[in-house]
Amino acid sequence: MPIYDDEEELVKVEHALAKSSPLVFAGECRQLHEHLAKAAMGQSFLLMGGDCAESFKEFHVDTIRDTFRVLLQMALVLTFGGSMPVIKVGRMAGQFAKPRSEPQEEVNGLKLPSYRGDIINSESFTEEARRNNPWRMLDAYHQSTQTLNILRAFATGGYADISRLHAWNLDFVEKSEEGSRYRKLASKVDESLRFMKAIGVNTESATFKQAQFYTAHECLLLSYEQALTRQDSTTGKWYDCSAHMLWIGERTRQLDGAHLEFTRGIGNPLGVKISDKITPDELLEVIDNLNPNNIPGRLSLIVRMGADKLREHLPALIRAVQKEGRFVVWVSDPVHGNTIKAENGLKTRPFEKIRDELRAFFDVHDQMGTHPGGVHLEMTGKDVTECIGGTIQDIKVDDLNKRYHTHCDPRLNGVQALELAFLIAERMRS
Ligand code: PEP
Ligand code: MN
Repeated sequence: MPIYDDEEELVKVEHALAKSSPLVFAGECRQLHEHLAKAAMGQSFLLMGGDCAESFKEFHVDTIRDTFRVLLQMALVLTFGGSMPVIKVGRMAGQFAKPRSEPQEEVNGLKLPSYRGDIINSESFTEEARRNNPWRMLDAYHQSTQTLNILRAFATGGYADISRLHAWNLDFVEKSEEGSRYRKLASKVDESLRFMKAIGVNTESATFKQAQFYTAHECLLLSYEQALTRQDSTTGKWYDCSAHMLWIGERTRQLDGAHLEFTRGIGNPLGVKISDKITPDELLEVIDNLNPNNIPGRLSLIVRMGADKLREHLPALIRAVQKEGRFVVWVSDPVHGNTIKAENGLKTRPFEKIRDELRAFFDVHDQMGTHPGGVHLEMTGKDVTECIGGTIQDIKVDDLNKRYHTHCDPRLNGVQALELAFLIAERMRS
């Protein structure tokens, strides 16, 4: 948790947030919970994606639109691949705070506090910029209201119409050999839509015209989260109304820590990131803590280990959960265990490693007879060059500098994200 120089300022901000309108409504969180319950039972698939960190400077409606569009395209591909509903959740409208492994950063002998996300301090490398400033929480809140407002408009105002989406931009497919597999799947989706129309399915209904889209972020900055927590008038339960779903990061999931203590008290569906460091016993304690009544959909376990470690460690975790009869949604985050430093010093992620981890995740679930319930990705709809590789748009280390815009971790670009969706869809079909 950041330490603020001026406690009084912090209290002022917390009061201002506590008086502000909630960003989401408890009823929506419950709706998402119901969808996730289906994923826990093997009847649905969760797709989560968005920036590693949202930024104040780069805020633009086009960026939101592009990420939203790619997520919907991916969801359509996955729905077709898995023949099951896909729950769409954006790492958006609140994904501002970052856990850092190092409290300080050193450049040319100058040591300053690390950048912790725009909701806490600023990225420029000056003492003033790196000071924790509570007023940034209000800026983050206001930006989130704008993001959510436009997302809601896109989701229900016609932008998400399937008849527009199926004409997704597939030029990338034309350019490669590999593309032919994808083209096949894409034309099958087209065909199915035409068939439905032909037999008289009402393609004017909300199912075809609107998307249900939810938001989520890491529940890290507790001052912000607590100030936006409200008691629901219909159930009397408390909900953190900053997002529909919240997750706890790998670095803040201590059993006696504040983040578990806070989240166990809220009604929102929850996620917990887990690496190979967690033991089966520890995992069961986390589950007991966050979902004592074993309600399906309440808890998603977001696995991020890297392919090799996943093959080694995930089976024992699944076995423990199975043995205790616990309902969880198993989600793969194949990006956070695969971050490397390229020769030019930039943080990157090889597409092939991400693919390998996903493959390992599906293999292990096949072996264990459990449901691979979802995927969690850092991605953007923009044509950035942050992750290397990909079969369609093979990005090289030398390309990284061209459009490296991330404020924290490297993201898959639109083409890479869509390619991954096709790979997952093929896997779900087989
Ligand atoms: C993240 O999701 O951006 C993140 C920091 O993940 P993890 O907690 O898994 O490292
Ligand atoms: Mn990240």
